[in-house]
Amino acid sequence: MLLRVENVTMSFDGFIATNNVSLNVEKGQMACIIGPNGAGKSTLFNLITGHLTPTEGKVFFHDQDITGKAPHTICQLGMGRSFQRTNIFPRLTVFENVQVAVLAHTRKTLNFLTPTKNMVQAETYALLEDVGLVDQANSVSGTLSYGFQKQLELGITLASDPEILLLDEPTAGMSPQETTNSITLIERISRERGLTLLFTEHDMDVVFSVAEKITVLHQGAVLAEGTPEHVKNDPDVQRIYLGEAA
Ligand code: ADP
Ligand code: MG
Repeated sequence: MLLRVENVTMSFDGFIATNNVSLNVEKGQMACIIGPNGAGKSTLFNLITGHLTPTEGKVFFHDQDITGKAPHTICQLGMGRSFQRTNIFPRLTVFENVQVAVLAHTRKTLNFLTPTKNMVQAETYALLEDVGLVDQANSVSGTLSYGFQKQLELGITLASDPEILLLDEPTAGMSPQETTNSITLIERISRERGLTLLFTEHDMDVVFSVAEKITVLHQGAVLAEGTPEHVKNDPDVQRIYLGEAA
């Protein structure tokens, strides 16, 4: 099992945001976490990536206990994440933003003989190509459309050469067209690179078209889990989603 979350609880001064959650993600799986606003999805992501330390429970990556480890350490082990809010340097160009990320990664992984400027440039262009931003390479990042900014963020995340991608609401705030483009891109890149994907998403069409496994959170706890078909037909899931819409 690539990622194993075991009985994780997160209490914020007594408020239980994550309640005894267990979750497994297999290598190569496309897994999705859904749940109403405030269900604890982002908190769970922060617990997995080291941005929060659980009050109770453990997180394993490749059978290694990563509970309480620093985010950069977990990132170096092969976990890439993007945030619900965009996380780029707005005044740098698209190229510079990705280059900074490539440099940060190569400095950590290569010895003193490398990196050469050419290698970094080539890797940066390869990533821009992957996320469809070659034409925007010299644009100032802050001036990009929201959809392009999210593509840039994906390029930055991929620069660390992750094995698993954690995407927290990758299509939040996007137009229907941007949503379709973005999901197509994420799926293609994940398959091409053999990445494992764990994402949260509010658009149910996206969830049911991409996810192989869905975990439903409700008030911090796992309400249901399984294939899209199984989850769709679960009476508890139908109740909370209908309740939310009402
Ligand atoms: P979701 O991503 O599913 O919308 P969150 O994980 O952001 O939900 O939040 C779950 C609950 O935990 C919410 O009630 C939120 O207000 C609370 N929460 C999240 N982070 C904190 C924090 N740092 N301190 C206190 N409460 C928090
Ligand atoms: Mg959230």
